[in-house]
Amino acid sequence: MTRRATVAIIGGSVTGVAAFIKLVRTGVAGCIEIIDPEGLADSIAFTASQDALLCNTSVQTMSVLDDDMHDFQHYLRAQGIDAGEQAFVPRAWVSGYLKQRYAEYRDLAEARGIEHRVVRAAVRHIKPVAHGEYRLELEDGSQRSASAVLVCTGSAAPFVPPLVTPHLGAPGIFATPYPTRSWLASLTRPSRVLVLGSRLSAIDSVLLLCGAGHQVLMASPSGRLPGVRTGTPRRCTASLDEARFARLDLESPKLYWHLLRIVARSAKAISGRSLRAQIDRSAEPVQRLRGEIALAEGGATDWQNLLVQCMDLADIKLRAAPPAVRLAALQNCWEAVGRYLFAVPLQTATTLLRLIDQGQLQLAPQLPTTLERQGKWQARDRHGRVEVVDAVVCATGFHKQPFHATPDGLALHVTPATPCTPPEVSAQLQVSLPGAGAPENIWLLGVASYLAAPMVNSVYQSVRQAGEVVVMLGEHFSLMDEQATEAVA
Ligand SMILES: Cc1cc2nc3c(=O)[nH]c(=O)nc-3n(C[C@H](O)[C@H](O)[C@H](O)COP(=O)(O)OP(=O)(O)OC[C@H]3O[C@@H](n4cnc5c(N)ncnc54)[C@H](O)[C@@H]3O)c2cc1C
Repeated sequence: MTRRATVAIIGGSVTGVAAFIKLVRTGVAGCIEIIDPEGLADSIAFTASQDALLCNTSVQTMSVLDDDMHDFQHYLRAQGIDAGEQAFVPRAWVSGYLKQRYAEYRDLAEARGIEHRVVRAAVRHIKPVAHGEYRLELEDGSQRSASAVLVCTGSAAPFVPPLVTPHLGAPGIFATPYPTRSWLASLTRPSRVLVLGSRLSAIDSVLLLCGAGHQVLMASPSGRLPGVRTGTPRRCTASLDEARFARLDLESPKLYWHLLRIVARSAKAISGRSLRAQIDRSAEPVQRLRGEIALAEGGATDWQNLLVQCMDLADIKLRAAPPAVRLAALQNCWEAVGRYLFAVPLQTATTLLRLIDQGQLQLAPQLPTTLERQGKWQARDRHGRVEVVDAVVCATGFHKQPFHATPDGLALHVTPATPCTPPEVSAQLQVSLPGAGAPENIWLLGVASYLAAPMVNSVYQSVRQAGEVVVMLGEHFSLMDEQATEAVA
């Protein structure tokens, strides 16, 4: 007996497309629906069309096939683009790649008799209705049925600092830099713009604004810029000591130092250079940027070869830990480690330094404490210094998608004020509802898997997760088929 299961994929971006491809390749489902109000492969990360916005991970990590890390590179070659596997390419190219691979596997699904449709709507609720079946309630009032649900919904709304919240909707106030075109086009040139944040979306904002001839003041609580790298290789000759990593005590207040010792030992083994000699420790951000650019240009950033393995080992360790331990471990290490995990490509760092040297970009070491409009926007810091700007862009990250679990099901659209009971999510990413005897056939994947896998925020991780979950789904359906066959016999 062959089970013709319907699998619903909620969210049609990187993770959703990777899950779709794997489902088609394995033939696990007879019908696959992708439900997303934005359609396919239109995530904010990869749709910005400006070439200055580069991936911060190498070509080798952007494949949407879990068993072929060179697939994105092959796609680029087919487009006439000769990019090396460690190159950082414009993010918009990833969107074109996802769309093309999706279309190929959609055609393959049709050829193999797998039903498939894309539904343009948001899902509000997933409810178990009968043994092994789910009803999906959509925002437009319609419903869908499925035997398994893969939740690939990414992050939620942008985070707006409390300083800006009272001014949302006022002229010159932008809650997020994405999508990039609309807000950028509304500025008169040359404007002076305050960008809040100093990580990747703040750097996107700087590149876009300065590229359009504006002046930028970039302010963040830490005043620190990300590290600088020239690649994110998936394999390295010297590897981290897995046994020592596995023994790390996630509850130790010295966790960060223990982790650093493991990384330092392997980083030195790569070419004999100590970890200290691979990073610049200047307290002044511009001096540090200059120092880290010089190290990257000199090929001295050996630490970058260990990042992928470090993220993978941390993912395994964190997934196995209870939620409170996981949170404490992340708080202990995030500030220091995040700088390297989300380091920028050397090209981007060089551009930032040039903008600073030309006076087009200034850095402020703290967030303003007050913001008020008196003709222009006046941002005052805690020392009483006032900066006058025409516009303010919040580039301060995104909220996690809130999930609310009840015995009735899983709610996906939870307003921030609503008290929320997160579901239990196993290390295999499977959701359990309160009071239910067994886990549901509902899985959280990609960025949305943060309740079990908080380290996942890159393409290669999401693609691997999608592959693993589809294999588990296949095993689940085979078991159900066997049980049904036995019952008939
Ligand atoms: C600015 C930026 C740059 C980045 N650069 C890189 C990079 O260079 N390399 C890298 O590896 N990673 C990068 N990332 C991380 C990257 O975004 C993630 O790895 C990847 O997008 C995860 O994809 P996802 O499918 O899980 O989520 P998303 O891409 O966020 O997609 C979620 C999808 O779900 C849909 N959705 C949400 N809620 C619902 C609902 N209720 N019903 C139906 N559909 C819904 C949304 O419309 C969206 O299409 C970057 C992220 C950002 C923000």
